[in-house]
Amino acid sequence: MKFDITIIGGGLVGASMAAALKNSGLKVALIESREPSPLPQDESWDIRVYAISPGSADFLRDQGIWQRMEAPRLTPVYDMSVFGDDNSSHIHFSAYETGVAELAYIVENRQLQTAVWEMLQSQTDHLDIICPAKCAAIDWQDTHVAIQLEDGRTIETALVVGADGVNSWTRQQAGIEVSRHPYQQIGVVANYSTELSHRNVAHQWFRRDGVLALLPLPGHRVSMVWSTSETYAAQLKELSVEKLCQRVAEASSHTLGKLELITPPAGFPLNFVHVNNLVQQRLVLVGDAAHGIHPLAGQGVNLGLRDVRKFTEIIQQRGLQSDVGDFMLLRRYECARKEDILALEMVTDGLQKLFNNANPTLARLRNLGLEITDHLPLIKSQLMQHALG
Ligand SMILES: Cc1cc2nc3c(=O)[nH]c(=O)nc-3n(C[C@H](O)[C@H](O)[C@H](O)COP(=O)(O)OP(=O)(O)OC[C@H]3O[C@@H](n4cnc5c(N)ncnc54)[C@H](O)[C@@H]3O)c2cc1C
Repeated sequence: MKFDITIIGGGLVGASMAAALKNSGLKVALIESREPSPLPQDESWDIRVYAISPGSADFLRDQGIWQRMEAPRLTPVYDMSVFGDDNSSHIHFSAYETGVAELAYIVENRQLQTAVWEMLQSQTDHLDIICPAKCAAIDWQDTHVAIQLEDGRTIETALVVGADGVNSWTRQQAGIEVSRHPYQQIGVVANYSTELSHRNVAHQWFRRDGVLALLPLPGHRVSMVWSTSETYAAQLKELSVEKLCQRVAEASSHTLGKLELITPPAGFPLNFVHVNNLVQQRLVLVGDAAHGIHPLAGQGVNLGLRDVRKFTEIIQQRGLQSDVGDFMLLRRYECARKEDILALEMVTDGLQKLFNNANPTLARLRNLGLEITDHLPLIKSQLMQHALG
């Protein structure tokens, strides 16, 4: 099996990359170890949801992916309210004031995954989907890369795209160094129905026990991400359903009234991963394989989709350069992406550290910072512009 580009990992980022390469004139392979699950035919809500920026939504629309999702299950976010840990400081972002139709959309992971994979099934002229399949070995040569699959099949490719998540096997095989620190926090996620309407507002509380976000879902429903210490996360998961609802309602200052659990809680360990090199001869890293950030800004998928947008743009505009694995071509991608990635890594890591600190002076300063920023429309608008992309 010979390809121009082989993508390892068919999560949202890798699968979107495969879709975006459809008009590149290149022969593409997508290797994914897990077969995608079909959408359940019931009224349940996925435990994993994403805040998708308008820029990412536009990109997915251009690929014909966005339109494949069930419109009534997408929730536009018109306002965002962020609270400090002193019960008074607060910053508010509004789509109206920013001059956009919406600040983000809240989308279920399985809706988006299904839409991307359905799209891929119709692209058989440029794409071979190799799934389920796992890579066993990889051999980097000057002229090509040879990949051996666990089932004995071999692949020859001019370029490998590592899109296999935060613990990327591809990245390890290439010997690329990472700076990594576990946040020693768990992102506890669960869905609730609410007594009061969320009015399409995404709420977030920077609390002493972590960062709590309640993201609007259709109707009177919200999705929770509570990034908190491993100990507190274990305690939350052991609470009875009634007590958990009470605890979340209290932590969110009863903003949405009484809560009822509709999807039981699950937890995801949170890590910071900075990858020193995004490219190497015949290798490109994208998505979480290229950067692991704290979910407090809800930007991981968006950052990964921006990798895809830039990489496909460079590939489309490569002119006479026919070798897609050429290091100089790949360096253009790395140079173009480094600033955006570093900025988001610093902001999310900085905010996590700032609010995960019990020092009372720092507490006063950070709350004051929120309050002051709320009165600085220019800075607010700049912050928003980045999140909208
Ligand atoms: C609690 C929480 C909340 C979040 N909320 C948001 C949000 O609101 N907005 C947002 O933008 N982001 C959010 N994120 C971040 C987001 O989940 C990730 O950034 C995103 O899922 C990364 O996608 P990916 O495709 O790069 O990696 P993954 O989703 O990890 O996909 C990697 C794929 O590679 C496959 N794979 C792995 N190894 C191999 C191999 N050797 N061979 C073949 N296949 C392989 C896996 O099966 C998987 O399908 C959140 C994260 C957490 C933990």
